[in-house]
Amino acid sequence: MRQLIAGNWKMNGLASSLRELAELSSALTARPPDCDVLVCPPATLISRAVEVGGATLMIGGQDCRAETSGAFTGDVSAEMLADAGAKAVIVGHSERRQYHGETDALVATKTRAAWRAGLLAIVCIGETLSEREGGLAEAICRSQLSGSVPAGATNENTVVAYEPIWAIGTGKTPSKTQIETTHSQIRTCLGPNLRILYGGSVNRSNAQEILSMSNVDGALVGGASLHATDFLAIIAAGRDETRLP
Ligand code: PEP
Repeated sequence: MRQLIAGNWKMNGLASSLRELAELSSALTARPPDCDVLVCPPATLISRAVEVGGATLMIGGQDCRAETSGAFTGDVSAEMLADAGAKAVIVGHSERRQYHGETDALVATKTRAAWRAGLLAIVCIGETLSEREGGLAEAICRSQLSGSVPAGATNENTVVAYEPIWAIGTGKTPSKTQIETTHSQIRTCLGPNLRILYGGSVNRSNAQEILSMSNVDGALVGGASLHATDFLAIIAAGRDETRLP
């Protein structure tokens, strides 16, 4: 399986940030990576990011509304993202679930909207710290998977990102055993073909270790994706396991 390293810029980035993408793109052109690379800037930068990213970088959105168009002020549909040149969209990020009250059912609708528009859906799941400490991580992930990933998910249209909420932006990461156990439980639910990304405080120092864990098929990276040099160091740790001896 070819790993996917995806960057989520969240609500960060102005036109001047496209410099980082230009640097990323020229470094990847000079030395093509062993993995797929995706950057999800804010919606305002998508079309310019597509121009800057060229053939080396996939560009994606961070959310979409499920409807195609209509009276939904401020929202962006999957079709609009595709029209701007996006190839993927993150759905169900814990910040959307927390700040916008998104439920598993809504995330499933957004996933289907992504498919309808021809986008790769990156469906995020993950438990809170109290759920982890209460021994509920597996049950939470199972229930989020069954509620958020509709029937019809394939390797071509869907990637799942396991992002423990307590690891996002905190500098804390789960132990190797915790990551491998949870990814293996997710693998059991999803079958052998879907890519499962790990997300939560991935950085240039821990990327190599995390990306070599079993059933980790890439990473979803927040803060460390904002600067080309940091993100390039993470990308360098990405692998194409179909080509490994
Ligand atoms: C994220 O927001 O998806 C994320 C993983 O953030 P960070 O890498 O900053 O923890």
